[in-house]
Amino acid sequence: MSVREDALYILGSGTPTPAKTRFGTAYVLKTGDDYLLIDCGPAATYKMVKCDLWPTQIDALFLTHHHFDHNADLPCFLLCRWDQSTGDENTLQVFGPPPTERMIEKLIGEEGAYCDDWKARVGAPVSQSVHKNRGGSLPRPVPNLDVRDIDEGTVAENRHWKVTAASMHHVEPWLKSLAYRIDTPKGSIVFTGDTGPCKQLPGFALDTDVLVVNCWNHQHIMDNDGEAPGQTGTLDAARFAAESKASTLILTHTGPDLCVPGSSEKAIADISGVYSGKIIFGTEETRLDLW
Ligand SMILES: [Zn+2]
Repeated sequence: MSVREDALYILGSGTPTPAKTRFGTAYVLKTGDDYLLIDCGPAATYKMVKCDLWPTQIDALFLTHHHFDHNADLPCFLLCRWDQSTGDENTLQVFGPPPTERMIEKLIGEEGAYCDDWKARVGAPVSQSVHKNRGGSLPRPVPNLDVRDIDEGTVAENRHWKVTAASMHHVEPWLKSLAYRIDTPKGSIVFTGDTGPCKQLPGFALDTDVLVVNCWNHQHIMDNDGEAPGQTGTLDAARFAAESKASTLILTHTGPDLCVPGSSEKAIADISGVYSGKIIFGTEETRLDLW
């Protein structure tokens, strides 16, 4: 394993229902020298550090939607990245469906919920000493982000990667949910975010190398308990992967029923009946080499 290789870090592979080994959703895609964070669920910053990553390494954050299991660590991550900064890092770019701009302004803006924290760290002599001893200089900069509400289409690109978004079907019209496709010179990866069956997804994800699908439960349970619309079950995930001709399917955002012993094996067996590619049952705080 080389740290130079592109990799996917699964930081959070759970749901809003806490489990001992899973809670919330967050991933880091390392591509070339860039680090992209996709979603920022509970304890994403802490899990990042446990994976030998550091908040200031993150160049851009892409939020799929604004359920708390995908964004609850936002104040922690944004403040920690700013607090640990010595001024040498890129300006963090943040993309997400509305109300991303409003939410972040209300968290760490000039009058945001956490403004007293960062104003104290900017102004207090002891905090200034910590900042200088860390390699920073005075006067200490205030938090500065490039935050954008986005919709479908090309979201961001440079010569190393391109990020495209597509609308999914989750809990509209209350929240807008986006899937992200990231194309690099070496390969492509698609994060579905939370979605139920969606005609747009197979075309959006066509021929991708890696498809990361949120998978709540066994399909037969979801089809019988009314939880299938707007969420993906095992067989819906399998159909996504088969129709998009993905090389590898990574199951994540898995609910408690799929976490009990023996359950993941049944899920993989069921999916294998529909999809013939490689199947990975994602676990938290793991690093997967890509392509
Ligand atoms: Zn959701």
